[in-house]
Amino acid sequence: MTFDDLGLSPEVLKALAEAGYTEPTPIQSKAIPYVLMGRDVLGCAQTGTGKTASFTLPMIEILASGRARARMPRSVILAPTRELAAQVAESFEKYGKHHKLSKALLIGGSSLVEQERKLDRGVDVLIATPGRMIDLFERGKVLLADVKILVIDEADRMLDMGFMPDVERIVGLLPPLRQTLFFSATMPPEIRRLADKFLSNPKEVSVDPPASPAETVTQALLRVTGAAKEKRAALRALIESEDIASALIFCNRKRDVDIVFRSFKKHGYSVAAMHGDMAQPVRMETLAAFKNSEVQLLICSDVAARGLDIPAVSHVFNFDVPTNAEDYIHRIGRTGRAGRSGKAYTLALPDEVRALADVFKMIGREIPECDVAEVEGWSQEKALREGGRSRRGRKPARERGRKERAERQPRSESKPKSERKAQEERPKRSARVEPISEKEKAKPKRRKTEEDEVASSSGESSPFGDHIPAFMMRSVA
Ligand code: ADP
Ligand code: MG
Repeated sequence: MTFDDLGLSPEVLKALAEAGYTEPTPIQSKAIPYVLMGRDVLGCAQTGTGKTASFTLPMIEILASGRARARMPRSVILAPTRELAAQVAESFEKYGKHHKLSKALLIGGSSLVEQERKLDRGVDVLIATPGRMIDLFERGKVLLADVKILVIDEADRMLDMGFMPDVERIVGLLPPLRQTLFFSATMPPEIRRLADKFLSNPKEVSVDPPASPAETVTQALLRVTGAAKEKRAALRALIESEDIASALIFCNRKRDVDIVFRSFKKHGYSVAAMHGDMAQPVRMETLAAFKNSEVQLLICSDVAARGLDIPAVSHVFNFDVPTNAEDYIHRIGRTGRAGRSGKAYTLALPDEVRALADVFKMIGREIPECDVAEVEGWSQEKALREGGRSRRGRKPARERGRKERAERQPRSESKPKSERKAQEERPKRSARVEPISEKEKAKPKRRKTEEDEVASSSGESSPFGDHIPAFMMRSVA
């Protein structure tokens, strides 16, 4: 099958040739004809297999006829993070370079004035994170009555309980007669059921069994005894033993992103950090530096887990086992994209076995364990010996963790509602710390929001207010 066979216009074919694409990927071959027919589509395919073009190319064709009116976008693409929304906007630009379609990128943390000006002129496609989009709607800057196509990228993430209220609200503002497209690499059954609310007689297009990790990624597991310090030592040894172009290192908590970042910086690595509490210009600059290979290692939270396409990423390290199994697929899917090969290592402490079991269950097999002896210059005993010395006098990690959790405030008390509304990317993962019953397991997951974590780590719930005592700033190994 060729792009020609898919019935795409000469302008789009030209843009694809210029992008160096010779043939459509399986999800593109399967999904594009249905989108062009005007059908609702629920598309599921592995990470890095070209889902963006699966919806963008036919959208360009559909939008090519017709004109945008002021403040009335003709189509909307929603994404869970600002960085992903920006990347989708770039793809739209790339594939639509021979068309005269206009777009606006509505994301938090960047100039409202400029976004409003674009909307005033009329846009064919609006690419947004839900929070900013609602914000602009409430200010009367955008009217949604003319939207003919709605795309939700990373759809399962957007329908989990953190984002769902915003998505429901936005969908409620759209005309009921529209085309709706959902795409993701994962689609848990409970979320799939929720999706039906928004789709009308959808064509389900899936390329592999749902939730299968990209085949191009070699996975390995390193079991570590001890605590975070031993993990950092193990991670350094792994990094030394691998030939790394660029790597993403995922931590479950923003606080740990900061700790691992400081530790690696101290050890002389080319490293940067990214998580949802950082100012947007810093996030964008950091990501740009990482993409340009000015920085080799990016320590990050799950804000970087979904959708980002950075070809130079040769390795992904899970410093922590993700607490939501789907995130495993998405994190490791940041490497091995577009047919390249990649490697993903997961470090696991004994108290992460349950999260690990969830991952095994979802991917349908265990992750092969790598032999510690293969990791040059590192041995579990040595790490424990070294780690043991400097941890003297501190409480065991398990106890510290419990205290931190107990200090956390419930979401509803963490911030006034109005303040919460103004923020974006609020959804965040839930640390599943309590044992869960079978009945609860069946329910859609409630994931923690960005603010939940802000409140627990640095916000109002801190007994120190804005001041960070010196002992909390101690250097780390
Ligand atoms: P997904 O959304 O499925 O994770 P993306 O849409 O981000 O994947 O695409 C992953 C990479 O594959 C991108 O770098 C994109 O440029 C590239 N790509 C997409 N379609 C093709 C194609 N038909 N031929 C070659 N490369 C492609
Ligand atoms: Mg994608």
